[in-house]
Amino acid sequence: MEFWCEYAWLGGEEVSAGVVIGVEGERIVTVRTGVAAAPEGAVVLSGYTLPGLANAHSHAFQRAFRGKTEVGRGTFWTWREQMYATASRLDPDSYFALARATFGEMALAGVTSVGEFHYVHHGEGGTRYADPNAMGAAVIAAAREAGIRITLIDACYLHGGIGEELNEVQRRFSDGTAEQWTRRVEAIQPGPGARLGAAIHSVRAVAPEEAELVAGWARGRALPLHAHVSEQPAENEACRAVYGRSPTEVLAEAGALSDRFTAIHVTHPSERDRALLGEAGACCCFCPTTERDLADGIGPAALLREAGASCAVGSDSQAVIDLFEECRAIELDERLARLERGNQGAVALLRAATADGQRAIGWSEAGAIEPGMLADLVNLDGGGVRLAGITPESALSTIVFAATAADVANVVVGGDFVVRDGRHAKLDVEEELRRSIGGLGGG
Ligand SMILES: [Zn+2]
Repeated sequence: MEFWCEYAWLGGEEVSAGVVIGVEGERIVTVRTGVAAAPEGAVVLSGYTLPGLANAHSHAFQRAFRGKTEVGRGTFWTWREQMYATASRLDPDSYFALARATFGEMALAGVTSVGEFHYVHHGEGGTRYADPNAMGAAVIAAAREAGIRITLIDACYLHGGIGEELNEVQRRFSDGTAEQWTRRVEAIQPGPGARLGAAIHSVRAVAPEEAELVAGWARGRALPLHAHVSEQPAENEACRAVYGRSPTEVLAEAGALSDRFTAIHVTHPSERDRALLGEAGACCCFCPTTERDLADGIGPAALLREAGASCAVGSDSQAVIDLFEECRAIELDERLARLERGNQGAVALLRAATADGQRAIGWSEAGAIEPGMLADLVNLDGGGVRLAGITPESALSTIVFAATAADVANVVVGGDFVVRDGRHAKLDVEEELRRSIGGLGGG
């Protein structure tokens, strides 16, 4: 089959006109440009077409308390208590329903692959389900039904804080030891459209020798390895007080840093941390809509990129699900912090949401419109009020700095439409969100 794109971004500084994308099975086999009219039988994608977006950091269940944590003063740490209340109410059935609805919302926003950083593994008080991977299996099945690819980034989570016991809710996250974590994760069979990754939840939840074991396990299987890193100053202080090192230094010594490693947030890295991440060729995943929501701070994305790291974006807490907003927030927040414009341009920001984000979650054959790559596409029709007046010359910066998820018209995964004319092909996403969030109750 063939798609004819009025304009498509093929990875350069500008969009190309009249792009015919030939697809066989799940893959792109040919790309032709300068084709003025749609060939007979081609599926027409008017407006602007990009490679499918990668949401490199997500906790699907946190969609349930969007907007409900905005009352009163507080910090990351008070928000975390509210998050635990929602986590405590999940079981495999309610998680499946909520995750399917949330991944449906992601599909509508142009996301074709999600890196689900998964840590709610067990039942109440840490009781194992009959299938100890029932929660992960529910999340994978949810993504499949929502039509998007998933990497289940299964997180090792063993301590309530550095040297602290797990609380009642955190017991649901823990496998007891890092060895037991590896045994559980080895039984996961992701199936089609799904892959596996590993995570060290954070230096708060995993001790250095445990981190070393998880990192070695991921290295042996060449899997992506993620960790929350320096999201909060208090995390840096606690880590230095006990280990005499920053979280990034602890992870580097544990052998975690490589070009398969993604540091999530990296809001408060030292100069040495930036150099370590850059030299390793690691990815840094920014989640600015969550980082601002939680009063985390502004990550130094441009400095990390200059040091040699790549960038990705994630919707994290699902405060909103809109990767165009995440992309521009990286740049716009840094402008406020540095009092300087132009730290990162539209093309670099789009690469974070496409090729670099896909690679960070283990889908390196997605994220570019090229022969051999997966036929995952997101199409913006350009007809809405935000994009009216868009020109081919300014298209990429107009999209990055003004488009929203609502401008996504069509989404194709593996050559098939998951979203057509702004509607999900299979799910009533709004109704599923209402029902699944309502079913969990509370705030
Ligand atoms: Zn997170």
